Amino acid sequence: MQEGSMEYQWSTSHAYGGNIHYIEELYEQFLVDPNSVPEQWRDYFNTLPRPEGAPAQDQPLTPVREHFSQLARQPRQHTAVVSTDNAQEKKQVRVLQLINAYRFRGHQRADIDPLNLMAREPVPDLDPAFHQLDQSDFDTEFQTGSLFLGKERATLREIYEAISQTYTSTTGAEFMHIVDTEEKRWLQQRFESVRSKPNYSEEVRKHLLERLTAAEGLENYLASKYPGTKRFGLEGGESYIPMMDEIIQRSGGYGIKEIVIGMAHRGRLNTLVNILGKSPAELFDEFDGKKMIDHGSGDVKYHQGFSSNVMTSGGEVHLALAFNPSHLEIGSPVVEGSVRARQDRREDTKGDAVLPISIHGDAAFSGQGVVMETFQMSQTRAYKTGGTIHIVINNQVGFTTSKREDARSSEYCTDIAKMVQAPIFHVNGDDPEAVLHVTQVAIDYRMQFHKDVVIDLVCYRRRGHNEADEPSGTQPLMYSKISKHASTRKLYTQKLIDEGVISEADDKRMVDEYRDALDNGRHVANALVKEPNTGLFVDWTPYLGHEWTAHADTRFDLKRLQELAQKMCEAPEGFKLQRQVNKIYDDRKKMLAGAMPMNWGFAETMAYATLLDEGHPIRITGQDVGRGTFSHRHAVLHNNQDGSLYVPLQHLKENQPSMTIHDSFLSEEAVLAFEYGYATTTPNALVIWEAQFGDFANGAQVVIDQFISSGESKWGRLCGLTLLLPHGFEGQGPEHSSARLERFLQLCAEHNMQVCAPTTPAQIYHLLRRQVIRPLRKPLVVMSPKSLLRHKDATSTLEELADGAFQPVIPDQGKLDDGNVKRVILCGGKVYYDLMHKRTELERDDTAIIRIEQLYPFPEESLDQELRRYPNLERVVWCQEEPQNQGAWYSSQHHMRNVLGAIKPELANALKLSSRAAAAAPASGYPSVHAEQQNKLVTEAFEV
Ligand code: AMP
Repeated sequence: MQEGSMEYQWSTSHAYGGNIHYIEELYEQFLVDPNSVPEQWRDYFNTLPRPEGAPAQDQPLTPVREHFSQLARQPRQHTAVVSTDNAQEKKQVRVLQLINAYRFRGHQRADIDPLNLMAREPVPDLDPAFHQLDQSDFDTEFQTGSLFLGKERATLREIYEAISQTYTSTTGAEFMHIVDTEEKRWLQQRFESVRSKPNYSEEVRKHLLERLTAAEGLENYLASKYPGTKRFGLEGGESYIPMMDEIIQRSGGYGIKEIVIGMAHRGRLNTLVNILGKSPAELFDEFDGKKMIDHGSGDVKYHQGFSSNVMTSGGEVHLALAFNPSHLEIGSPVVEGSVRARQDRREDTKGDAVLPISIHGDAAFSGQGVVMETFQMSQTRAYKTGGTIHIVINNQVGFTTSKREDARSSEYCTDIAKMVQAPIFHVNGDDPEAVLHVTQVAIDYRMQFHKDVVIDLVCYRRRGHNEADEPSGTQPLMYSKISKHASTRKLYTQKLIDEGVISEADDKRMVDEYRDALDNGRHVANALVKEPNTGLFVDWTPYLGHEWTAHADTRFDLKRLQELAQKMCEAPEGFKLQRQVNKIYDDRKKMLAGAMPMNWGFAETMAYATLLDEGHPIRITGQDVGRGTFSHRHAVLHNNQDGSLYVPLQHLKENQPSMTIHDSFLSEEAVLAFEYGYATTTPNALVIWEAQFGDFANGAQVVIDQFISSGESKWGRLCGLTLLLPHGFEGQGPEHSSARLERFLQLCAEHNMQVCAPTTPAQIYHLLRRQVIRPLRKPLVVMSPKSLLRHKDATSTLEELADGAFQPVIPDQGKLDDGNVKRVILCGGKVYYDLMHKRTELERDDTAIIRIEQLYPFPEESLDQELRRYPNLERVVWCQEEPQNQGAWYSSQHHMRNVLGAIKPELANALKLSSRAAAAAPASGYPSVHAEQQNKLVTEAFEV
């Protein structure tokens, strides 16, 4: 390539390779209007192959990208392509380069920090001199290219003023990482056409001030009424309230009917009172420490959720603020799940009727891995919600950590959002009008493109981490600055007074009115609907107040069961199944005909088919659920000829309820949190999350601890979520054996959830059916099998499906003389089959084997009944495959002793254990050691 040629110029510039975007930009312009680019570029672009047909998204850029990336890989050649000898045209190129630099990097120089403390890197590209442009060029006219300036030509002065105002004032718009050309152009137009700040009417500006007055007024009120009480006040981030107000009103105008909001502590009380319309009197009661719910532990006030309806220009909108634990980011996927459930209920496939809003703190947003997982799910089939509005209340400090080099490695706390190419709008919290503008752009973007968008509200926390904390010990400079810094409201009031929009008397009146409303306990959310339309949300009353012992009739008409089973074995004409899959389906046909014993996969499928037939929707997600980790399910068929899919469960009958089954991406934490959110919003459905191996649930421990086991007690929120966790000691090593039964049992109290270990196909069938048919909504944790899926003795009959019920305790299945029985072995899970085998081998007719299929709530009554059959009982053994310190032993033995003690006091002391020895790891990695241990614990059950 020749010196002076376009390619030479780019190959030697700092932008070579890295700044292909500039050339793309020129090329885009060229495609729209060839005359709008300098002649040399036009000639050069003409040499490239033109894209065919209508330009779709990124496609027009392919030739230019390919060409330049090839150049980047090639050794420099000296071939002339285009020469630039005309000085004016060279300058034109530089002007376009300058415009582009502002689009890319303007945000790095933008005035987004109210405290002006944010460490910023120098950005030389933003200086005209960097592009060899100087004052003498400022009065020269240039083409404006793709800049939205309202004219094709303008002086460099005008251009420079426009790009500086647009990209370096109080808004720092970051969106050039987006590859979709249409989106990028849309965003450029929205910011450039108004230079990032529209001229808002007096009415709008007064409304902004009124909302800031509410935000500040509430905090001042609480500060004087409850000094020093923890409330995680919003002071320093008050612009968040007008922002939320605008999101709700504007999205209502778009036809949104429900909004689910997730947020951590800061600003929560303000949101509850000023946005959702919680009664101030109720809040004051909470500050006074009054007990607010009859059952359960309750939760602190800044974790509370709330629901209300507000009026917007598009009609009534239902708002739900999700309850959340202290774990800062885990609420986001829960919100997504709740939103998806509402969208599914409304058949809102694009996200036009239900909107998620996630509010984050800066430190957690950049620190916690679940944020990445939540972004990753945002466009996937199973989890997408049509785009989330993310708001970061950026205090520029996490508890006491504010040094950039300690808090994160990325430049902004929001950089993680770039992984899904979300646009990010950094905005100075002290400029409420800029905040309003980015809010409007964010909503419009979400409604137009149905993707995530982030608003980074850069602000500060005036009173430290919380009101009981002293921040200046660790952030002396920041807090010395904050102490002298006027509040957002004060600054904005002064501006409006200076500009003659309001008077000082107006200002005082606004403050007094808000304070009076609080004094009188009046609602202060303007648009609150006092008589809400309850049709906007689900009625939970049928599910309230049930005991776990409530009967559930899970029987099903045999003839219909056979008809459904027949449909379950069918694939469309010509649909070619892979050989092993075909065999599974052939076997199912034999099971239906009674020519083969029915296995787990068949019974589980029939649980789903019968529930769907009775009108219950089903949603199953998790790692590899379509097939099942151990290939027992194959609910999603793949055509071996063309890759098309067929789900028999979706083809039962006309207008059947929805049957959703999706393999999840390889996450546990966000995915389980999502399903918790889904299940707490959809009481009539069977919602299942299955782990690839049971111990994978470890990765979602926070969801199990803070939502699944305790959500009802803390917040009164019922949840019927089912977890299928493959569990069983089969010589597969420490990580693939245990679903950590002990952890679930340790969390059990107050009948908060059900933990079951079913051992037959009929048991899983009735257990899954019971979970939906019984109106009780409690999480169900199933220790689901691996080898039992194919065990020759773990079989059932169609009649057992049609007629039976789930048995929390399964009596001995042998033909023993009850009077002979001196020993009872109690067990759960697959060890039962080993024990049966051993009993036959040992010919022991003095030993009964009873299975406890429901470990929690412990079925004391049923066990009592079974044990009383044996009048000469002397010894009872709990046999488990797990090591002594794991499994059910420590958490369940007191239930067994209660039962035994009630029958005969000395029996309580006769309870013994046979298990693996206490161990640090759940299982051995050596199959030979496993086999030896297994044999020992099974033998000991007959001896100890
Ligand atoms: P939401 O649509 O989440 O705002 O819920 C509306 C109302 O339904 C709430 O105010 C509760 O009374 C009730 N509700 C919602 N979810 C649950 C749940 N998981 N358990 C019990 N009641 C619920």
